[in-house]
Amino acid sequence: MNKLYLTIALCLSLTSNTCFAKDDTPFAIAIHGGAGTISAASLSPEQEKAIRDKLKQAVDAGYKVLDKGGDSLDAVQSAINVLENSPLFNAGVGAVYTFDGGHELDASVMDGNTMNAGAVAGVKHIKNPIDLARKVMEKSPHVMLYGQGAEEFALTQQFSLVPNSHFDTPHRYAQLLDAKASIIEAEQNNGDDYQASVAQLTANYKYGTVGAVALDKQGNLAAGTSTGGMTAKRFGRIGDSPVIGAGTYAENGVCAVSATGHGEYFIRYQVAGDICAKVKYQQLSIIQAADEVINQRLISAGGTGGVIAIDQRGNIATPFNTEGMYRATRSQGQAATIMIWRDK
Ligand code: ASP
Repeated sequence: MNKLYLTIALCLSLTSNTCFAKDDTPFAIAIHGGAGTISAASLSPEQEKAIRDKLKQAVDAGYKVLDKGGDSLDAVQSAINVLENSPLFNAGVGAVYTFDGGHELDASVMDGNTMNAGAVAGVKHIKNPIDLARKVMEKSPHVMLYGQGAEEFALTQQFSLVPNSHFDTPHRYAQLLDAKASIIEAEQNNGDDYQASVAQLTANYKYGTVGAVALDKQGNLAAGTSTGGMTAKRFGRIGDSPVIGAGTYAENGVCAVSATGHGEYFIRYQVAGDICAKVKYQQLSIIQAADEVINQRLISAGGTGGVIAIDQRGNIATPFNTEGMYRATRSQGQAATIMIWRDK
């Protein structure tokens, strides 16, 4: 057998990596579309397919950026934009309603390379809040802008504002009506205690916040999160998603995290930052660190939700303590994995 045939035979019998020069720098992305009460029975096959398709489209959009050598921040932003532009998720169009019947959106992004971060909270007229969060990071001296100030800043950055009704969807409105009816009923049983009534209600929320974490070929980590918050929230309420260290965190050499769940707990327990601190100071693996925070600390506290987390080598953890969590991952050279429940 001549040398060429021998090489071809060897290549066919071994993995292609052995035969062709290959760039070995790991890169990967994980995304989520929220965690909550997602029972198999509550999703029709058509709904499930639509959600899976959209998750795939989003993770592939981010993966494409990474594959071309692009940066993790761009990958995170592209994936989140796909989800913000879909009515299936609680971010951008499809955002949940406040108790008063409006929409107030929160988002944040963090660059693990520079430790810069940007966030917006309570914005009402920004189609893609993650884009504005990034502008806050890159074009302002601040980390977080809220409400009108954030929107006036947006105008200086050539954003156009959309009417609040842009975020309306009939299914979220129906959820609001349901939530209000339950709150009123619970208030009657709780002696008009609004806070206790809302707390009781959150157990049944379908969340839907979106987020992404990525590691690029240059070894840079990034994380981002975007949300409409929680159904029937009091106007002015700000959740964990725009709070760096709570809903979003990224630090090169350590990890990147985006969270979803009952924001008040994620803020008080500093969930995203705590996971990375465990990786950094206790040398826990990303799987152990994320699992300890979500499935031990948060559960003892009574907090529900989950995270997507990635480490410096591209290892990914996606733990959640709810019935389901919409998520997708894609690592270098592999196909996307889309999951809703624990095992599928
Ligand atoms: N964490 C979000 C919030 O509390 C809600 C969610 O993740 O669905 O605003």
